[in-house]
Amino acid sequence: MENTYRWMQESTALKIETEALITPAQDQALDTKGHKAKMLHTTNDPKCRMCKEKDETVAHIVSACPKMRAPRKLVQDKTTT
Ligand SMILES: [Zn+2]
Repeated sequence: MENTYRWMQESTALKIETEALITPAQDQALDTKGHKAKMLHTTNDPKCRMCKEKDETVAHIVSACPKMRAPRKLVQDKTTT
């Protein structure tokens, strides 16, 4: 668990906007468009705001979104070295 958050203490390569997205995703606490559309019914558009290809879920953002590939790689590199 300690390594999971190590990137936050050591990283200066991430933009604050990227860090602001990754941190709640890591905590499974994102208010995703998929959640808003399918659970809260407060929007009709569940598509990811980054890639606009798939439904925006925590799993999509954390592991599949092509637009998050570079930030994911940075985090992975920071936590595996
Ligand atoms: Zn996406």
